[in-house]
Amino acid sequence: MNLPSWINPINEGLNLPATTMLVVLTLYLAARALLVLAPMMVWALRSQFARAHRVYRIEITPQQIRYEVRTAFVNLLVDAAVLTAMIKSNLAQIGDSHVLETAVFSFVWMEIWFYALHRVLHTRAFYFIHRVHHESKVTTPMTGMTFSVVERALIVGGFGMGLLAMSFVVPVSPSGVAMYFMFNYTLGLFGHSNIEIYSPAVRQLLFFWTTPTHHSMHHARVRGHYGLMTTVMDSLFRTEFSDYVHLHQQAYSGEGATKLVKPQQREAA
Ligand SMILES: [Zn+2]
Ligand SMILES: [Zn+2]
Repeated sequence: MNLPSWINPINEGLNLPATTMLVVLTLYLAARALLVLAPMMVWALRSQFARAHRVYRIEITPQQIRYEVRTAFVNLLVDAAVLTAMIKSNLAQIGDSHVLETAVFSFVWMEIWFYALHRVLHTRAFYFIHRVHHESKVTTPMTGMTFSVVERALIVGGFGMGLLAMSFVVPVSPSGVAMYFMFNYTLGLFGHSNIEIYSPAVRQLLFFWTTPTHHSMHHARVRGHYGLMTTVMDSLFRTEFSDYVHLHQQAYSGEGATKLVKPQQREAA
C-alpha cells in the first residue's frame, strides 16, 4: 500500500540526492504547518468553543507566540535533516510491504522512548536540554513544535533507532512511518492546545488515552505527566497528578484553572 505523495513524500524521494530530499522534506513539513498548524492556532486562540474550554484560563502573550514561531521553524529544519540522514544512511531495510506493522511499532516504541527520554531530560543534569519546551507554561498548539535542537534530534533520532532495530525483522515502511507521523503531529497539536475537547464520559471510556488537560498540567507544574499519547507509562510509573480528573472536569465545563499550581503547592512554595 503506497500512500499518495502529499501524505508520504518519502517514497517519492528515496532515489533523490540527499540535498534534494532535504528540500522536498522541508517544503512538505512547511506546507503541513501552514495547512494544519496555522488554522489550529487560530481556532485555539480565537474560537468561542476553544476559549470556553481552556484548561488554564490565562492569556497567552505575543512574546510567547513569537518565541514559538521561531523555535518551531528551527524544529522543522531539524526534522527534515534527521529524516534525510536516516533515510540516506541506508542502514535500515526499506519497503512498503509492512505498512500497518510499521505504524503500530512506531506508536508503541514512541510511547516508551518518549517517556524514558522525557524522564531523563527532567533530571537536574539534563534539564537544560528540555528547558526550551517548558518556556510555555500555558501552551498553544505550536508549543508541540518547540524543542531545543538537541532535544528534537534526540526524539527523532531515538525513533529512528527503534525503526532500525525493527528493520532486522521486517522492512521499514515509509507509508507506515508517514501515517504515524500524521497521527503524532495532529495529536501533538491538540495535546498542547490548552483546550479540553474530550468530555468526561469520553475520558472515562478512553481511560488509557491522554487529554489536553493531561499535558497542560505537565507544562504548568513541570514534574508529573511525562507521557506522550497514552497515560499508560504515567500510570505504570506512578507519575500522574491526583487532581487530574478534577481539573479535566472543570476545564470541560468551562471552569478551567486560573492559576498554574494547586493551592497547597502555592502555600508550600
Ligand atoms: Zn509539551
Ligand atoms: Zn517536560
